[in-house]
Amino acid sequence: MENILRLSVFLGVFVIMAVAESFWPRRPQQTRRRDRWPHNLALVILDIAVLRLVFPVSLAGFALSVNQHQWGFLPLFGLPFLANIFLTLVFLDLMIYFQHVTFHKVPILWRLHRVHHADIEFDVTTALRFHPVEILISMAIKFAAVAAIGAPPEAVLFFEIILNACAMFNHGNIALPAKWDQRLRRILVTPDMHRVHHSVAVAEINSNYGFNISLWDRLFGTYRAQPEQGHDRMKIGLEQFREKEEMRIDRMLTQPFRHARLPMVTEAGLDVSRQEVIDLLEGIVGNAGDDVAEAGFGREGVERGGLDCGMSEDEALRRSHSRTR
Ligand SMILES: [Zn+2]
Ligand SMILES: [Zn+2]
Repeated sequence: MENILRLSVFLGVFVIMAVAESFWPRRPQQTRRRDRWPHNLALVILDIAVLRLVFPVSLAGFALSVNQHQWGFLPLFGLPFLANIFLTLVFLDLMIYFQHVTFHKVPILWRLHRVHHADIEFDVTTALRFHPVEILISMAIKFAAVAAIGAPPEAVLFFEIILNACAMFNHGNIALPAKWDQRLRRILVTPDMHRVHHSVAVAEINSNYGFNISLWDRLFGTYRAQPEQGHDRMKIGLEQFREKEEMRIDRMLTQPFRHARLPMVTEAGLDVSRQEVIDLLEGIVGNAGDDVAEAGFGREGVERGGLDCGMSEDEALRRSHSRTR
């Protein structure tokens, strides 16, 4: 029953979004659907298979035994059923927000999560593009959260359905009327809001982490209303993984274990070893000392674990790349 319900909502929202994207696209896509979609969809099927293999019960099934054992803190308060449902939804959504932030800040987790960001287009199938190891870690965290709060199984099932539907909605390449977007984003994460998070610009990637409720980003200071370049001109994806072959499922699966073609600067740190960065910067200094001084690169900055530069990531990458060629 649970599977039929989840599959029906998934297919329903997917078809609605796919049709809406055809009729009211927000941005023209450079890549054909038939080159990307089979791979993104194959990845989600693989994710589901891996989840089934590793976790013997679904999250809602686990919540059922949590309830029977009266685990977690919610049963301690004796609140009405609807209050427990509401608190579970809010708590799980807040947890997903912090989990998302953590996947950006911890370098080894960012390697997994960057598979989601490496999609060079932004549409309903981007919502399904997650590395299986990230999906497994995420599920383990949800199991722990459900046990900790003693979440009612109905709320857990409801949350999983909402999370999945909202993710497909807020990754949609759909042009919502500006008024609708403004009203909706007071409560929910809209496609225009989440698209900012898929920008190549570091400051924009590190904003709008929410998946369902838009409140968390406003509350924790990670909210960014619009992309600097505007939705039509902004560049989506990662500078480091833009080749056509990176759309293939085999490349997505191996991507976390490969070094990026270019050094990657994110708030998670540099996605290369410190020595590689020092070598790179010494190469730059050797070739263009004045240029580097002017740009504000400093060895001390590198040794603090970040690139201490006063220019945008784009420019830093462009300059460093051309200097080291
Ligand atoms: Zn992210
Ligand atoms: Zn996303």
